[in-house]
Amino acid sequence: MIPYGRQSISGEDLAAVEAVLRSDWLTQGPAVPRFERAVADYVGAPHAVAVNSATSALHLACAALGVGAASRVWTVPNTFVASANCGRYCGAEVGFVDIDPRTYCLDPHDLARRLEVASGQGRLPDVIVSVDFAGQPCDYQAIAQLKAEYGFRLIDDASHAIGATCSDVRVGALPVADITVFSFHPVKIVTSAEGGMLLTADPALAAAARRLRSHGIERDPVLLECPDEGAWYYEQQALGWNYRITDLQAALGASQVARIDGFLARRRALAQRYDTLLAELPLISPWQRPGGVSARHLYPVLLRDKVQRREVFERLRASGIGVQVHYLPVHLQPYYRRLGFAPGDFPVAEDYAERTLSLPIYADLSDASQDQVVAALKEALS
Ligand SMILES: *Cc1c(COP(=O)(O)O)cnc(C)c1O
Repeated sequence: MIPYGRQSISGEDLAAVEAVLRSDWLTQGPAVPRFERAVADYVGAPHAVAVNSATSALHLACAALGVGAASRVWTVPNTFVASANCGRYCGAEVGFVDIDPRTYCLDPHDLARRLEVASGQGRLPDVIVSVDFAGQPCDYQAIAQLKAEYGFRLIDDASHAIGATCSDVRVGALPVADITVFSFHPVKIVTSAEGGMLLTADPALAAAARRLRSHGIERDPVLLECPDEGAWYYEQQALGWNYRITDLQAALGASQVARIDGFLARRRALAQRYDTLLAELPLISPWQRPGGVSARHLYPVLLRDKVQRREVFERLRASGIGVQVHYLPVHLQPYYRRLGFAPGDFPVAEDYAERTLSLPIYADLSDASQDQVVAALKEALS
């Protein structure tokens, strides 16, 4: 089986994990700040907070921004459910914005329309979670203008997009985002097995996320509320969680970040090969918006209709090609339907979801395996 995504583990990665196992620290120890520094330096962000998943990072991002039961959080339907659930964890009302029919990312025109309506009703969102779908950065120039006009905070769910750039600035250091979140799940661009990270330029947001990652406990002497009683002293200042990442995971993550240029180069080469090899086929390859450079986490092609998608999906799976669908619209999940969403609410995302198919793309995918995918796809389409 050729999967749609897969980790790449080197001898250095194995050695990094083994070194932790032989050391004094297994849980959150010295490898965690090393991993945080490596990612922060790579993207050019001042602060990084590593946690046990991107889902945890999204939750902490909302909590650090003060999202609560009276808040509204908007995201897109074309994402993994975690981008919406983070608002619900904090008790907020979740809303959605439709996607752009060419990039499959948040559509700034739809956002502008919805903000205007919400403004008239006194129901503006407090936080928007944008998603750099498939690794392609959203149109942040347009989003920044709307942010300045309406005053929402922005969380960039960049789970797909470490290494992507927008106007030559790396995702994670974009001034428009209050907080950026990366995922290190094995199918993502770099992995720590399970893991996630928040990036921010705001030291107060970083400190809040750091506290909430470990029960709301503060140990930094300069951030204590009461007089420091001594080296044993700590304070629980808020109600936090145990979202700590282990040193084993952080060591793997740091070792992987050192390999990121190779991962990105290979993904981009594979995407370019698909662009060429699929050019004559009756499908739509992922369009790239000028001004941004995608990290190429996914290669989603758009087929004619849902009947053809089912047929092609089943034929490819039968020939050992692990195609996948990214994503079922979040607002149509039973949980969100019970909150009042229905088919027809976000027509572009719904149409896209019925026709999309993600082809295999990952650093260790060989040209020969990719040729096999293309041959099977040609066969399935004929
Ligand atoms: C993978 C993913 C997440 C969740 O990441 P975990 O690290 O598995 O929690 C969130 N958002 C998007 C867009 C993702 O692709």
